Amino acid sequence: MKLVFATGNIGKLREAREILGSGFEVLCPADLGIFEDVPENAMTLKENSIIKAETYGRLCGLDCFADDTGLEVDALGGAPGVHAARYAADIARRDGLPVPHDHDFSANIDALLRELDKHPGEPRTARFRSVVTLRLNGELHFFEGTLEGRIATGRSGSGGFGYDPVFIADEYPGCSVAELPEDVKNAISHRGKALRLMARWLQERE
Ligand code: IMP
Repeated sequence: MKLVFATGNIGKLREAREILGSGFEVLCPADLGIFEDVPENAMTLKENSIIKAETYGRLCGLDCFADDTGLEVDALGGAPGVHAARYAADIARRDGLPVPHDHDFSANIDALLRELDKHPGEPRTARFRSVVTLRLNGELHFFEGTLEGRIATGRSGSGGFGYDPVFIADEYPGCSVAELPEDVKNAISHRGKALRLMARWLQERE
């Protein structure tokens, strides 16, 4: 089955292809010559994933899915949450400092570690939450997955992307997610869980 994954994030695309396997041909908008930038400024993960699935699904004229992921850190009252991609920029604006661009992974991690330093002794528990919207024949369907863990005090590992170097999953407490082989991350991850639910749902309809 051919599906467009509404993302420009190479890390997400590689993971989705591995998770969905050979029964799916996963294209990204760039494969179809589409380089539209979609603002992700809604208040919830679900709304953001709907915006991406609807916009790219219409532009590509194919069935399409999108994922929006948030990082909820308990000591920060659930922040950065849906703002995970632009956390450093939000903090810089709050503090009147030069604003880095959105999706600056390194600046986002620095901001997260600095904010957590202000909460010494508090648990560093956190979770990734992914909401996947599938747009199939113009109709929307939703799938969700979470990964529980905690935020490390420093970076380790070079795999994955985003916050992976500082996220320690409960299943593998001795290392960061960026130190896990990709298939191991995919077996436990928020996105892996949501995409496997989507794949199972699609297979059951056949
Ligand atoms: P978005 O879903 O692309 O908006 O992701 C929001 C933020 O979370 C971005 O900074 C991503 O890099 C980060 N992110 C999304 N998925 C993951 C993941 O699997 N591991 C680590 N960071 C992630």
